[in-house]
Amino acid sequence: MSSFKNKIVLITGGASGIGYLMGEKSLQREARKLIIWDINEDKLLDAAKRLSKQGYTVETGVVDVSDPEQVQQEAKKVLDEHGSIDMLFNNAGIVVGKKFEEHSIEHIKKTMDINSLGLMYVARAFLPAMIENGYGYIINIASAAGLTPNPGMTVYAASKWAAVGWSESLNLELKKNGEPVNVLTVMPSYINTGMFAGVTAPLLMPLLDPDDISTKILDAVEREKERLREPFMVKLTPFIRGILPAKLYDFVAGKIFGVYDSMNTFIGRKTDH
Ligand code: NAD
Repeated sequence: MSSFKNKIVLITGGASGIGYLMGEKSLQREARKLIIWDINEDKLLDAAKRLSKQGYTVETGVVDVSDPEQVQQEAKKVLDEHGSIDMLFNNAGIVVGKKFEEHSIEHIKKTMDINSLGLMYVARAFLPAMIENGYGYIINIASAAGLTPNPGMTVYAASKWAAVGWSESLNLELKKNGEPVNVLTVMPSYINTGMFAGVTAPLLMPLLDPDDISTKILDAVEREKERLREPFMVKLTPFIRGILPAKLYDFVAGKIFGVYDSMNTFIGRKTDH
């Protein structure tokens, strides 16, 4: 069991969506300190205000996780003040949601930089202190899009496949080396936060409720789980993809479950790109 009690928790992209909810719930589970990093200053101020109305004081930092120098600088400030952090939620992410040929080079780079490299920059900045401190938990919010191909989200899927590969490898490496740091890789399907507004939920994969999934993520941390795939059909995805011939998998995922048409109706959030 890993309790939130007295822990210092840092959440990237924590000013809105599931990042905000995971922060709020960490405080409700008696975390000692919540540090929220987000690129959006207005949303950060609003998040801090909402939490202070509930009696919580939080630290905030305007940080772009895709900027390695800024991440290093801001992490140094946190480490100088607190020595280490206990739990890192690598949550910041964006989606462009266009046909591949409609992505600008900027869209491609930004998606990979935030969704894949950003996780590594932030973890790299805090992991040595966690190891030295004798405790740490890194929670990487990847996606079910890291487990299956999906047209309409080519670059997003690539970024999440990278996130899953890195996160699961990091977990194994830390275990193999006997380090006192746990890693949880989170792979949810669509969540009703607005990031994927307009999508058509695939069969047996209803849009996840942000409150429910953030509770499940915190519960998974407390139970020291290494992976969380939600809803149930996502748990089966690697197995189904492993046993079916590729063309049959594409038929099942595409035609029966409707995964490959789910982005046809995507609207998303215009601020993501
Ligand atoms: P959201 O858009 O509601 O919140 C994302 C937050 O990240 C925002 O506050 C935004 O300002 C911040 N952010 C964006 N770029 C940043 C950057 N460069 N540096 C720092 N902060 C930045 O999204 P959400 O739905 O809560 O998603 C959170 C995470 O969950 C993302 O990684 C997303 O890919 C993943 N996820 C979302 C869904 C979904 O359907 N919404 C499904 C699976 C996985």
